[in-house]
Amino acid sequence: MIDIHVHFFPPAVFRAIWRFFEVESKGLWPIKYKIHTEEHIARLTEYGVERFTTLVYAHKPGMAAHLNRFIAEWAAKEKRILPFGTIYAGDADRVAEARRIFEDEGFLGIKLHPFVSNEELDDSGFFPVYEMIEDLGRVVVCHPGSAPAYHSQDGVHRLRKVLERYPKLKVVIAHCGAYEYDGYPLLADEFENVYFDTAMNCIHGSTWHNNCPGPAFFQKYQDRILYGSDYPNIPYAYPQQRTALEDLKLGPEIEAKIFRGNAERLLGIVA
Ligand SMILES: [Zn+2]
Repeated sequence: MIDIHVHFFPPAVFRAIWRFFEVESKGLWPIKYKIHTEEHIARLTEYGVERFTTLVYAHKPGMAAHLNRFIAEWAAKEKRILPFGTIYAGDADRVAEARRIFEDEGFLGIKLHPFVSNEELDDSGFFPVYEMIEDLGRVVVCHPGSAPAYHSQDGVHRLRKVLERYPKLKVVIAHCGAYEYDGYPLLADEFENVYFDTAMNCIHGSTWHNNCPGPAFFQKYQDRILYGSDYPNIPYAYPQQRTALEDLKLGPEIEAKIFRGNAERLLGIVA
């Protein structure tokens, strides 16, 4: 099993994020796994995850390079890591940093989280970075949807502007685009390299309600959906994500694509 949506921050940053989640959610989002580095990886292995990404994001200038160095360090010693870093549009050295992480460090992609970073996906500061990512065939994982509690719903429109400029850009829309389940699939219909990850979708009684686009979505986009969990920042036990997807009864062929095959193809992983 490959998990495309795993966070891997330095311990101090993780602690700040967990505090933020728990305070902001007023107790609705208790973090189940307050673990990092070795323990974080050991637990994933226990749950049957063979390869996983290291999603990070920055919310202020100068932070991206620090996060990227942390990821590079870990990727060098842990082969199960599929290294993902981040880029901050407000950093003057963003293009050089992108070149460094892709060409020198071999990162597979970046994560962008507009709501946390306060930088929209169509910020022109990202354009040269998108161009590089498109040329190199790397991947952008982003969280443009309004779930769980963001106010803006114009992510579809902004991402469309990006894709009109970089139509071959490989983009993974986190959380299946929740809650704009009607909007993001239109981008997948129009642009060949638009994918989705399953993080926090279809889990009953979770912090997110109306969090499942239904079996028809999974059938239609079976070649574009990648298993993702959002671990460790989740308010329930890790295996619930897998069970929730299995409960959709999509059949072994589609499950094989979602849990592994699509990620192998997208990231160029040789099995
Ligand atoms: Zn996430």
